[in-house]
Amino acid sequence: MLDALFKPRAVAIVGASTKELSIGNVIIRNLQEYGYKGAIYPINPTAPDVRGIKAYKSLSEVPGEVDLAHIIIPAKFVPQTIEECGRKGIKAVVINSAGFSEMGEEGKKLQEAFLANARRGGVRVFGPNCQGIINTDPALRAYCNFTFTYPEAGSVSVVALSGGVGALIMQALFDLGIGMRMYASNGNACDISIPEILRYWGDDEGTKAILLYTEGFSDPNEFLAVAREVARRKPVLAMKAGRTEQGAKAASSHTGSLAGVDIATELIFEKTGILSFTDEGAMVRAAKAFASQPVPAGNRVGIITNTGGPAVIATDVLVASGLDVPKLSDGSIARLKETLLPEAAIENPVDVVATAGGAHFRAALDVLLEEDGVDSIFMNFVTAPFTDTHAVAREIAAVSRMGKKPIVCNFMTDLTQERFRITERILKEGGVPCYANPSDAANALGALVRYGRLRQRDIGKPESLPGADAARARAVVGQAGKEGRTVLSATDVYTIFEAYGIPVAPWNVAGTADEAAAAAARIGYPVVVKADSEKIDHKSDMGGVVVNLRDAAAVRATVQDLQGRLGKHGRLNFLVQKFLPGGRELIVGASAERGLGHLVMFGLGGVYVEVLKDVVFKIAPVTRVEAREMLASLKAKALLDGVRGEKGVDREKVVDLILRVSALLADLPEIREMDLNPVMAFENAVYAVDGRIRI
Ligand code: ADP
Ligand code: MG
Repeated sequence: MLDALFKPRAVAIVGASTKELSIGNVIIRNLQEYGYKGAIYPINPTAPDVRGIKAYKSLSEVPGEVDLAHIIIPAKFVPQTIEECGRKGIKAVVINSAGFSEMGEEGKKLQEAFLANARRGGVRVFGPNCQGIINTDPALRAYCNFTFTYPEAGSVSVVALSGGVGALIMQALFDLGIGMRMYASNGNACDISIPEILRYWGDDEGTKAILLYTEGFSDPNEFLAVAREVARRKPVLAMKAGRTEQGAKAASSHTGSLAGVDIATELIFEKTGILSFTDEGAMVRAAKAFASQPVPAGNRVGIITNTGGPAVIATDVLVASGLDVPKLSDGSIARLKETLLPEAAIENPVDVVATAGGAHFRAALDVLLEEDGVDSIFMNFVTAPFTDTHAVAREIAAVSRMGKKPIVCNFMTDLTQERFRITERILKEGGVPCYANPSDAANALGALVRYGRLRQRDIGKPESLPGADAARARAVVGQAGKEGRTVLSATDVYTIFEAYGIPVAPWNVAGTADEAAAAAARIGYPVVVKADSEKIDHKSDMGGVVVNLRDAAAVRATVQDLQGRLGKHGRLNFLVQKFLPGGRELIVGASAERGLGHLVMFGLGGVYVEVLKDVVFKIAPVTRVEAREMLASLKAKALLDGVRGEKGVDREKVVDLILRVSALLADLPEIREMDLNPVMAFENAVYAVDGRIRI
């Protein structure tokens, strides 16, 4: 429970200062000016009072109970102070001071020291090196923070590791007139973590939506588990910075680097149903809609406009965000004809025309509310000076208050005019999310629809794989580990694949030309011969793959040639494999991510994988729904169905192969990197013809 932190009944400030421009003074001023309803206890060894409030020399002298203490003193005194907090029965501290783990070894030791004291004394730590929290609840008004924005009370809660971004988001909410519920910026986050805060707000009735800014996760698995549960109950809008590095990384060669460093966070958002944003402005504008509007049941939108052009822009943006602007039913059209002005355009968008008054708007709104084919309403409202704009606003506000279908409004006006400010206030009081242009309003509605879709998406559970021989695969990996090999041999790789029922082209490993010819005879011509050595990563780069060998003489000659050319790389074996021409070359890969398990990759494969870069990722374990999504989200997905008379591939067999790879990864966490490239996919079969595993 984080009540002591977010709902403190009394706050002590250790390091309270009489100097106006110091954190130990600003926090007290914020508590005073924001109207904190609890007791404030400045702690200062010399000053009799701070900002007119009686100060105490130490925590032990404070007469009343204290829930929360701010700590704003040099790092080296913090461990002892935390001990005093424990003795005083203080449940939580916000350590604003810096000088801990972010400062190297010595700071790290201090952090460990105060954490030990905190655990012993039952004190929860927020920070260190952080801003603090805000709770806008009118009954409390706890501004335990040193920032400068005084937010209005509302229903959006904000958590950001970075204080700078947290403050930016808070200010942006304020500028857009969006109320905030709680705020937390926890810096080093050595104890109270973002998942813990998410869980707390998940249970907080006053929080309707959560905004999250992060730069990564210290414990991705904990975050996955908590975020999934919270995002199911209320919208979590999130943004992760540091994307451009990923673009650069995507250019290099294997699964690990094709994934890049940051893709994992995006995948975590996707897996948990968190709504991800790349732009903090768009995220905050979307929050405005989430704060007051219900989540639409589907993606069909009805548009009401009193001006033509902006409805065209809105339609474009709405459609680009995945919304549908459907035709209205005959019944709706008949009703609109009865009630709207004769010059109105009765279709979707419904153009009520500029002279429309409150009653016309209301008639159109009522029709869309009752129209089964529409899930949400988009308003274009220009304040035509020859109309009663207040009356129009009152009708839109009344419909918004009903909460039947979500509504957003592109409100085009001049707010320097008193009259239109009143119109705006009427809309705001009705909870109508207003925006200054059609694109912003359409994108906000798009976010609501995207969240609705995320919430409905059920990825299901990972399936168990009957018949998988985990013990056999483990034995192979164990033996390689014992021998100090990190790159597995062809025999190892194909043995593991077979243990998991991953279909492979018939194969055999030979040491000599004679053995190779015998193997080829068993497999059946034509065959492929490949050089197999721990030292060779990309065989075809060095001429180590020779395809379409039709007889024993060709096999022998190839083996001798490979021995001659590549023998200098150390011991060489020869993989003899069935030649399977004419399939679509796909890639399935995996890489281990610290603290998260594996990422699974799927895409267009073959030797051009780095050029095409048409690959998608999921966090393992991958469910059947997710595997199907992987196929469906390739840029060149049409190739899987066949183009220009070519045959398509057996999609369900590809899905099945991805699930088998995922199951294999779950059983063998030792695998660092794995590539099946290519997987040859045909109309009714798939085969892995090349595999690489690094442990
Ligand atoms: P590497 O990736 O190490 O260069 P591969 O074994 O993937 O070597 O072979 C390179 C290419 O040769 C493949 O992308 C594929 O086009 C072709 N190839 C390899 N094995 C077969 C096979 N059994 N049947 C058909 N084509 C193959
Ligand atoms: Mg290959």
